[in-house]
Amino acid sequence: MKISFPYMGPTLIYAKLLELLGHDIVMPNRPSRKTIELGVKHSPEFACFPFKVLMGTYLEMMGKGIDTIVTSGGHGPCRAGYYGELHKKILSSLGYDLDFIIFDEPKRDFKRFFQYVKRLKADSSWFHVARVVYIVYRMSKSIDKIEKIVTTRRAYVSNKSLFNRTWQNILEDYSRIRTLKDISEVEKKALKKINKFNYQLPPEDERIRIGIIGEIYVVMEPSVNNNIEEIINYFGAEVERSQYLSQYIDETIMPFKGKEVKEIFRKADDYLEIIIGGHARQSVGHIVDYKERGFDGIIHLKPFGCLPELITQSMLDKISLDLDIPILSLSIDEQTAQANLMTRIEAFIDFIKYQKASKKERMVVNE
Ligand code: SF4
Repeated sequence: MKISFPYMGPTLIYAKLLELLGHDIVMPNRPSRKTIELGVKHSPEFACFPFKVLMGTYLEMMGKGIDTIVTSGGHGPCRAGYYGELHKKILSSLGYDLDFIIFDEPKRDFKRFFQYVKRLKADSSWFHVARVVYIVYRMSKSIDKIEKIVTTRRAYVSNKSLFNRTWQNILEDYSRIRTLKDISEVEKKALKKINKFNYQLPPEDERIRIGIIGEIYVVMEPSVNNNIEEIINYFGAEVERSQYLSQYIDETIMPFKGKEVKEIFRKADDYLEIIIGGHARQSVGHIVDYKERGFDGIIHLKPFGCLPELITQSMLDKISLDLDIPILSLSIDEQTAQANLMTRIEAFIDFIKYQKASKKERMVVNE
């Protein structure tokens, strides 16, 4: 089997899982303008944006000898459940016959999930599979931990381009991991590299913290959201997103984990009591959670054509008023340009700064 997979977030983790299981893999390209144009050309016009980007990603990999694509299925009642089948059909109509291994949540169809695991297990022992899964899981936890530090510190370091290069360097170190011991060594080395950068934390009441919520693909994939976390940091604000890979694994695969997501669901109860597809309910719960944790603003990312996030968007004005927190909603599609995003984010952060300064002034006057 020559395998590939979609490009989303820390793609090196999926590559590591398949590589350690002994498969021959082809790394997908980071989505570019060309990828998006190709995907848009070969997708139904009404398909949601992530479908089109994945379509383009797959098409760019054709001709490299791939015979199998490993991907994830739907999460609740949204169109992601049909993605794999539809991609397969479109590729076949273009003359590329590939096998798709589509992982849905194990609790939805454990038998099928297990059959797919057995296919990927190939000749490895079950002990080796368990070890590899655990290594990859620990690796995703470690990367997420370091990334959260990066997206906080980057707001304050002066040489942001060198800091970005260091972060890329750290990710390359992670891609060379083979054992659990390597993970702790790479993590220690990563912290050392980050700590070399001087930064000055502003006083607590001047720090600006932004939470990003929305659909998982556009939230997690920087090439699709135009590096939104870097833009927010560039304007001097800290950022955290509602979706991280290790959290997704906890929610969907790990038994006895996912307590946090139940808590996030509970926080959404006043606005959305049921799961309507994608991560809409988590998006709402995360707004409440960010407010409770003292964040100053929320940026909502909605891929064009996404029904669950369209419903989230319709509730944002009320939530923003109820919780007294500014929310900026951005629709992402093939027309989205970085300059436009930068202008809107800059204005949003200026507004938060102004709001914080006038609150502080009022408090001084009242004292
Ligand atoms: S959550 Fe939205 S963008 Fe993602 S697959 Fe479902 S409908 Fe499409």
